[in-house]
Parts: sequence; C-alpha cells; structure tokens
Amino acid sequence: MAKKLLILAGDGIGPEVMAQVRRIIDWMAKKRQISFDVSEGLVGGCSYDAHGVPLTDETMAEALAADAVLLGAVGGQKWDDLPFELKPERGLLRLRKDMDLFANLRPAFVFDALAEASTLKTDLVRGLDIMIVRELTGGVYFGQPRGIETLPNGERRGVNTQVYTTSEIVRVARVAFELARKRGRKMHSVEKANVMESGLLWREEVQKLRDAEYADVELQHMYADNCAMQLVRNPKQFDVIVTDNLFGDLLSDCAAMLTGSLGMLPSASLGAADAQGRRRALYEPVHGSAPDIAGKDMANPLATILSFAMMLRYSFDMMAEADLVEKAVKNVLDGGLRTADIMQPGKARVSTTVMGEAIVRELDKLAG
Ligand code: NAD
Repeated sequence: MAKKLLILAGDGIGPEVMAQVRRIIDWMAKKRQISFDVSEGLVGGCSYDAHGVPLTDETMAEALAADAVLLGAVGGQKWDDLPFELKPERGLLRLRKDMDLFANLRPAFVFDALAEASTLKTDLVRGLDIMIVRELTGGVYFGQPRGIETLPNGERRGVNTQVYTTSEIVRVARVAFELARKRGRKMHSVEKANVMESGLLWREEVQKLRDAEYADVELQHMYADNCAMQLVRNPKQFDVIVTDNLFGDLLSDCAAMLTGSLGMLPSASLGAADAQGRRRALYEPVHGSAPDIAGKDMANPLATILSFAMMLRYSFDMMAEADLVEKAVKNVLDGGLRTADIMQPGKARVSTTVMGEAIVRELDKLAG
C-alpha cells in the first residue's frame, strides 16, 4: 500500500522549496519504484485567502488520515493585521495541537562543506551531529493558570505556569531514548531541577525510565543554563538532548545557529504511536516563509529536502532512501553549489530550481 503523504506548501517561499521535493518524489517513483499517495492542501495565508480560515476542517481531517504531513512555511505581511484566530500561524498551531505532536525533533548537523560558515571555530563544529528532542505540547506555554490581571493596587501581574505530569515526561523521554539507541546511545536530559519542582520531577522520571527500560543508553542530567553554555563551548560532547518546551525552544535555536543557516535546518514533530505502530507526524523546515526573498527563486530548498529525508527515515522506515537523499545533499555541497544564504567565496551561486535539479542529478549518479 502506498503511504499517504499530505503536502501543505503554505505561503511565501513554501511552494518554491516544496517544488524541489516534488522532483525527488517523482525521481523515487521513476527510478526506485517507490510511489507515495500524495495529496496537496492549503495552510496559512493561502488558506485564509481561499476559505477565510488558516486551516479548514477538511484539510485537518486529511492531515489526521495521512501517514505523514510535509509542510513548507506560513505567514507574510499581507495577513499581519488579521485577528489572532485567523492569522496564518494559527493553521500550523492547530495542526500541531489536533495531531497531538508532543515530540519535536530538531537535528543540528554540520555538513563539512559548510563548517566554515558557523560563527564558532571550524574545528569545534566540524562533524557536529546533535539531535534535540523538545517537548512540544506541555509546560509553561500551555499551563494554567495564565493571563494578565490587574491587582487591587492598580499594578498589573502576568502569570504563566510551568507544569508537567509523569506521563507527559515519560512519553517524550521514550522517543528520545529510542533515538539514542539508533545513534550513539548517549543522552542528556536537561532541566532546572535545582530551582524548579517540575524540573526535579522531570529528572526523576527520566532516570526511572532509563533504569527500567533503557539501561543500554548512557544518561546524564544537565541544568539548562549549563547546557546553553556547553553548546557553544564544546557542542560535540552532545548526541541526543531531551528537554521541555521552554528550554527546548531556546536550546534548539542556539544549536541550530551553530550550523550556519536557517535554510539548512529540517525538523520533525511526532505524536503517539497507534496500535499498528503508526505515529502521527509533521515534517517541516525550521525557517519561515521568508517574504523578503519569496518569488525570486532564491530560497534554499535543502531544509525542506532534509525534512523529507527525515520523513523517509522516521515515518516510512526507508533508511536507504533517507541516506541517499542526505548523501546527495552532501555531495552537491561538496561540489561547490550554494544558494545565496550559504554562499561562500569561490563557490557557485545557484537558484532554488538549479539546486533542486542538482540534487536529482546527484541522486541519479548515486543510484546509478
Ligand atoms: P524567516 O525564517 O521567514 O526568515 C528569516 C530570514 O532568513 C530572512 O532574511 C529570510 O530571507 C531568511 N531565510 C529563511 N529561510 C530561508 C531559506 N530557505 N533560504 C534562504 N534564506 C532563508 O523568519 P521571519 O522573517 O521572522 O518571518 C517571516 C514570516 O514567516 C512571518 O510571517 C513569520 O510569522 C513566519 N514564520 C513561519 C514559520 C513557519 O511556518 N514554521 C516559522 C517562522 C516564521
């Protein structure tokens, strides 16, 4: 049975970068006899323009029925003045919420050819390969009580609540341990157990799970402030990092920038596995819709292509094909092609389209 793949290209550069993934999907059908049952839908501003909402119930239902969803990006100035509930980003938030995507996987991987583009010294980042697993549906961004109130003395008070239950901690830690098993069997669990009870619970539950089920994985606990420092001091000490929503938000951006460009960064968000072992999953580049370069055939499509490779690996168990796509990206970069965002002296600057074509040509060579 062909796997059901829903493509939501979105706004701005979304459709431009997604067109390059379509080339790879076509290549897989033609050259590897792998075909997906692909459908396309609207999300974000383009959905608002067509239907008056950033995500329709029909598209939401299609996403729930799909084996995986691949998203481009949403947003743009045109929709900035819409009421909060109709903003493009609400479409994305609804997808994440209704699919119950609690584990956000953000790899920070440095391609050798781009090691010099990092703001850190080249030898600190060459060969870097970190996977940050961020809890995505709990913690202080969702905890109750929350709000802004006016006190009797006229002062205003803002409240947010950091809250985690054992099951929320265990399910995301389990995803991280499983990933650690497929990588270097080394994991850091990150919180602030020294000053937060929710952090202490996090630490205890992760340790308990490790002792009960994942004794083969080396586990270290680290305070979040120290982790931020270690990420820029000696990032290669890390393999898998698991952390909560707030700390994950900050640490994954920090780790991402070690790799040079937003245009290179993929991500995956996973939900619970059903009885057949199928996990709801959404794959998307980390970058936004880049309105400043939209429509100019300038965007870097590699973050979206690498998100597609993550989908092959984590949703479809197509390890050989995922390796092939990642190898093609590596070889094209080694060969000196660069989109504007990753341009370096002496390299060849190419458009979105030419980069996509080069990846397909490389796939041909590799599979030849
Ligand atoms: P952005 O990520 O769109 O762009 C930041 C900068 O990086 C821009 O200069 C842009 O040109 C560049 N850039 C981003 N992706 C690139 C790529 N693939 N290739 C080359 N250069 C790239 O962030 P922003 O400018 O803060 O936001 C623009 C819009 O995107 C806003 O409406 C915002 O709300 C939305 N946004 C959406 C998502 C998402 O869909 N997941 C994420 C972040 C921002």
